[in-house]
Amino acid sequence: MPSPVFDESRRRLLRGRVRAAALRPPWSLADRFTDLCTRCGACVGACPEAILHAGDGGFPEVDFRHGECSFCAACADACPEPVFDRTNHRPWTLVAAIGPSCLTARRVVCRSCGDACPESAIRFALEPNGVARPALDTSACTGCGACLSACPVGAVTIGTPSEASHAA
Ligand code: SF4
Ligand code: SF4
Ligand code: SF4
Repeated sequence: MPSPVFDESRRRLLRGRVRAAALRPPWSLADRFTDLCTRCGACVGACPEAILHAGDGGFPEVDFRHGECSFCAACADACPEPVFDRTNHRPWTLVAAIGPSCLTARRVVCRSCGDACPESAIRFALEPNGVARPALDTSACTGCGACLSACPVGAVTIGTPSEASHAA
């Protein structure tokens, strides 16, 4: 089972809720990340999706506002330190969550997240009010983040399964 890629030692308040602050690159060992990473920046420069950046303390973090992870593993391949473990079958345990600010909750038709999902993990079911609401299949979700930037109102978050259950 892969380690969650959140560095649990570095929590902070975000919009009034405590959440894990740093989303680490896929396959990285989050629980030892700040011990093993030298902040060389090689992974940041290697990411073809430009979703990695130097975050707090210069340690690399994922920012899905800039795109999605294609799981190409260029970050892991570029890293000269034992930060990544590619023997983990899954790159991370992250999943998406769709929050209450979703437009469909206000009876506005929108399927942007579903259209962006490469795994067809977001299905739409018609509600009695005539507007289809999104439902996430967490077993199909890879946590790639493609749906996050696609949402016009920022209703999508990416986090651990427990965080997702609180966000929905
Ligand atoms: S796997 Fe590829 S796309 Fe994903 S963060 Fe690493 S370099 Fe970027
Ligand atoms: S390439 Fe490895 S050591 Fe360098 S910043 Fe990225 S994770 Fe840290
Ligand atoms: S994180 Fe990726 S796989 Fe999961 S619902 Fe969003 S687009 Fe689909």
